[in-house]
Amino acid sequence: MKRKTLAIQQIYKEGREHLEKAGILEAGLDAWYLLKHVTGIDKAFYYAHPEREISEEEKERYFYYIEERKKRIPLQHLTGEQEFMGLVFSVNRHVLIPRQDTETLVELALKKIEKGMRILDMCTGSGCILLSLLKLCRAEDVTGIGADISKEALLVAKENAERLGVLVQFVNGDLFENIGSGEMFDMIVSNPPYIPTAVIDGLEEEVRLYDPYIALDGREDGLFFYQRIVKESILHIKRGGYLLFEIGCGQAEKVAGLMEKAGYKDIRVEKDLAGLDRVVYGMYNEE
Ligand code: GLN
Repeated sequence: MKRKTLAIQQIYKEGREHLEKAGILEAGLDAWYLLKHVTGIDKAFYYAHPEREISEEEKERYFYYIEERKKRIPLQHLTGEQEFMGLVFSVNRHVLIPRQDTETLVELALKKIEKGMRILDMCTGSGCILLSLLKLCRAEDVTGIGADISKEALLVAKENAERLGVLVQFVNGDLFENIGSGEMFDMIVSNPPYIPTAVIDGLEEEVRLYDPYIALDGREDGLFFYQRIVKESILHIKRGGYLLFEIGCGQAEKVAGLMEKAGYKDIRVEKDLAGLDRVVYGMYNEE
C-alpha cells in the first residue's frame, strides 16, 4: 500500500511542534533550517508552493534530524554549517560553532588591516576569524597563520579555507609552541577558551555537551589563556602591531591589565550588539 505523502507546510508544522514540546528555544527557526537542509527549498519556494509534497525519504530524514535536535544536538552539527560575517563555514563537534558576538572582533580588526599585514589567529578553531579577515579585507597582500592545539579543528579550518578560496597557513601546536621564533606579526587576534571551569556546568546543554570542552575551558578564573597569550605575544608582535582578544563576561578590566603590564598601549574595550564588553585590544609599543 502506498503510504501517505505530506505537504511541506504540514511537515514543517509537525517538526516545529515536536521541538516546541521538547523545550527547544528557537523551535520554529530550527525546524525551518532542518527542512531547508533536507529538501533544499528556500523560503520563496516554500511560500509559493506550500502544498508541494515531500518524498517518503525526505520525510524520514527530516524527522530523524528533528529527533536529534530534541536531544539538544546543536542545529549546526546537524546541518554541518554556520553563517558568520555573511560567509558559510563548515563546522563539526571538533570546533566551537562561530558566534555572532565574535563578529565584533572581526569588524574591529577589519578597520585596522592595511596593505601587506601579516596576521596570526591564535586558537583558530573553525578558522572563522582569520578566514573572514582574509576574505573580506580590502587591503592587498595580507597573509595569515591560524594556530590551534587541535588537529581535528585544523582539518575543519582547512576545509573552510578551501571552500572560501582563501590562501592561508595553519600550524598545529600548544599556543606559540610551533610558531617560528622569527615569525613577527602586525596583528594577533584570538578568541581563546575563556569560561571559568565552574561556570561550564551551568551553560545550556547545546554548549556544555556538544561544543568542544577544550574550546570553552579557561580554567579556574577563565583567564589562563589570556595570561599565556599576552606573555608570549610580545615575542611575535611587531612594534605598532595590534593584539585583539574576544573576552567573556566581566573580563575586560583584567585582560586590559595583563596587556598593559606587557607593554601594550591605547588599550580599549569594544561592546557587542547586546551592549556587553566583548573585545579588548591594544597596540604594542615597546622596542
Ligand atoms: N562565547 C562562547 C560561549 O559563550 C565561549 C567562547 C570561548 O570560550 N572562547 O559559549
